[in-house]
Amino acid sequence: LVQLAVPLNFMGMIYREIKQALIDIDDMFRILDQNPEIADRPGAPALRVGSGSVRFEDVRFAYNPSRPILRGVSFEVPAGRTVAIVGPSGAGKSTLSRLLFRFYEPQGGRILIDGQDIAAVRQDSLRAVIGMVPQDTVLFNDTIGYNIRYGRWDASEADLREAARSAQIDRFIESLPEGYDTPVGERGLKLSGGEKQRVAIARTILKAPPILVLDEATSALDSFTEREIQTALDRVSRGRTTLVIAHRLSTVVNADEILVLDHGHIVERGDHLTLLARRGVYAALWNRQRQEDEAREALEHAEDEA
Ligand code: ADP
Ligand code: MG
Repeated sequence: LVQLAVPLNFMGMIYREIKQALIDIDDMFRILDQNPEIADRPGAPALRVGSGSVRFEDVRFAYNPSRPILRGVSFEVPAGRTVAIVGPSGAGKSTLSRLLFRFYEPQGGRILIDGQDIAAVRQDSLRAVIGMVPQDTVLFNDTIGYNIRYGRWDASEADLREAARSAQIDRFIESLPEGYDTPVGERGLKLSGGEKQRVAIARTILKAPPILVLDEATSALDSFTEREIQTALDRVSRGRTTLVIAHRLSTVVNADEILVLDHGHIVERGDHLTLLARRGVYAALWNRQRQEDEAREALEHAEDEA
């Protein structure tokens, strides 16, 4: 029974990932035809970004009034620092990133970038300074080069290659017969989850925004791919204000602050060692993840030997 419990747990995790991916795709479409409720105020100025500090002040939010998701969330990501958000599935982690991008507006509280309320500035100026690597990347039905250049249209060929190299996807692309001109998506090459995510990272590296939001993918990746992606993400977040929705232990360990989100509240906060010592929600999450990782690595080893 113990041997069965672990794979069943994995099935549950994978099921949740797929469900979340569908929600994210749904969001993409909503965003593409613009959420009409969110309009710029007449004469709204552009956001002026210096160092790029991010601040949530008592933010309250519900998609549906009968079901509050965030019940007063406050935190700050100082310029150039990394804050990690952890918590159970459905806690509202990705919602924080959607609010920062202003796909939705909070019903209470405010979100400030360098002291300016993001609700009072032009959306295009807000989105220009934030780079987002979503949980599940949806690529355009175009070439792989187009999908990376989307980060910055005027990028040179050399910049494009450099971004691909930093995201550790350059060798993969160069191994394709048509290289950067290879069509991807429905009518072209099918990329794996890890490859798609690295394309999104390359795009973000090319964009080089002062603020980064990383919604990490989880168990869909094998540990080797996960490590490759971690290296790429570490590179892009160096020196940038980074909000990371963290699944990977390494991200969490290195973050300047970790927030544990549960039932719409931040229930614990602090750095990794402080939170472990508390033996609370975070310590329990950490221990469970470590067991899952060990089980997964054992499984991969067994497959390698078979
Ligand atoms: P997390 O990223 O922590 O797993 P989310 O922020 O994606 O959680 O979602 C928080 C809750 O809000 C979940 O219960 C989810 O089902 C719900 N939710 C997410 N997106 C929407 C939406 N567009 N409309 C209604 N409910 C949503
Ligand atoms: Mg999420």
